[in-house]
Amino acid sequence: MPDRKPYVGGNWKMNTTSDSSTSLARGVCEACEAAQGAVDVVVFPPSPYLIGVASIFKSRPSAIRVGAQDLYHEAEGAFTGEVSVGMGADCGCEHALAGHSERRHVIGESDELINAKVKAMLAGGLTCVLCVGELLEEREAGKTNEVNERQLRTGLADVGLRQMENVVIAYEPVWAIGTGKTASPEDAQAAHEFIRGLLVELYNDDVANRTRIIYGGSVKPSNAATLFAQPDIDGGLIGGASLKVDDFAAIVKAASGA
Ligand code: PEP
Repeated sequence: MPDRKPYVGGNWKMNTTSDSSTSLARGVCEACEAAQGAVDVVVFPPSPYLIGVASIFKSRPSAIRVGAQDLYHEAEGAFTGEVSVGMGADCGCEHALAGHSERRHVIGESDELINAKVKAMLAGGLTCVLCVGELLEEREAGKTNEVNERQLRTGLADVGLRQMENVVIAYEPVWAIGTGKTASPEDAQAAHEFIRGLLVELYNDDVANRTRIIYGGSVKPSNAATLFAQPDIDGGLIGGASLKVDDFAAIVKAASGA
């Protein structure tokens, strides 16, 4: 991976309890210790457990960071159920996901709402992981690049060149998320290469070369190294396997190249 530090995120989704989230955090801390310098490791617990998980990493000390699975773009007010960027940061978040496929396709978030969230996260000093990816029917209709382009152009609208230092792109084909089906390394590489080319067009060569583009979709210890060996794949966003300490640690190790 040319000059780009690998990034591995663990998206815990709507799993764990108060107790199991802290024991998972402790386990990740111990198991990932060796690779922490070589890889940016971030876990994304459910919001009620952010403070507890962040306190585990603070007390170690550890290089593992905590992120939010979603944050709202308005700062405060009558938005029942939402959590603002400031609240996330106050709970220890330094990173946040925007546009995860479950937010797009289960909750129904639009490209425009996701863009508002991306901008609010960056303005609030967080690193934003913008997730993009096509549905199975879109892939079968030959629309993979078209969908990724639309989600990226709209998701990054009005995001400045300097702000791109705090953006990570996650390419997650929707048909591969939580299904056990993984994109072939060649198909994943092709999508990542396309996304990097689009960053040249939207920004410049330097931004495109520096931005981490990570792959998500049923990454496991058995396929991580082959995926991460692709020239434009800079790590992974991991769902199911991030709930198992040994699997997550093996994936982080694969990203470190060790
Ligand atoms: C995800 O939640 O972003 C994800 C990629 O999930 P999984 O690894 O379970 O496919």
